[in-house]
Amino acid sequence: MEEGSFGLGVIDESRSAETVLSDSVVITQLDKIVAWGRKYSFFLYPFVTACCGMEFMSVAGPRYDIDRFGAALPRFSPRQADLLMVVGTISHKQAPILVKVYNQMTEPKWVFAFGSCVVSGGMYNNYATVQGIDSLIPVDVYVPGCPPRPEIVLDGLIKLQEKVETNPNTMMVKGIATVGEADDRKIT
Ligand code: SF4
Repeated sequence: MEEGSFGLGVIDESRSAETVLSDSVVITQLDKIVAWGRKYSFFLYPFVTACCGMEFMSVAGPRYDIDRFGAALPRFSPRQADLLMVVGTISHKQAPILVKVYNQMTEPKWVFAFGSCVVSGGMYNNYATVQGIDSLIPVDVYVPGCPPRPEIVLDGLIKLQEKVETNPNTMMVKGIATVGEADDRKIT
């Protein structure tokens, strides 16, 4: 029999319990396995307002296949979603709606800024456009581009997966966002 191996109930005491168990048992922590599950099961809410929407459809289609990353099923109720994908120009008029959707989402939740307009207002440096949605809600991943190519969107998604897996702060309850500078209407 090979040295150091198990066989027919014979126990080799020279091997530590950890070595022996690692052959057949995976030892982990609950939060790590939950984070691993979460990173492969995003339920995204697409908040699509403008031309970046075409690129979002391309990412979601079979050529780029966002399903490979476990984020295939868009939910059109924020209460069933944990990833808010903000796609396209956000005007000040739309800001309270965006914040309301964010506030209704389940915790823990993440926000993906898709395209230059969402990241910084893009080319719309004017009074009507929100100059970056991080003035309204916390953003986890910024993906620039006008529009961003599907490859960079998928890269952003992979970055978000890494963040969810390695940074426990992303799991914290984010709470309610206020409408902020965009509008003074109350969100209830
Ligand atoms: S970033 Fe460019 S493509 Fe995307 S919504 Fe703005 S103007 Fe349209």
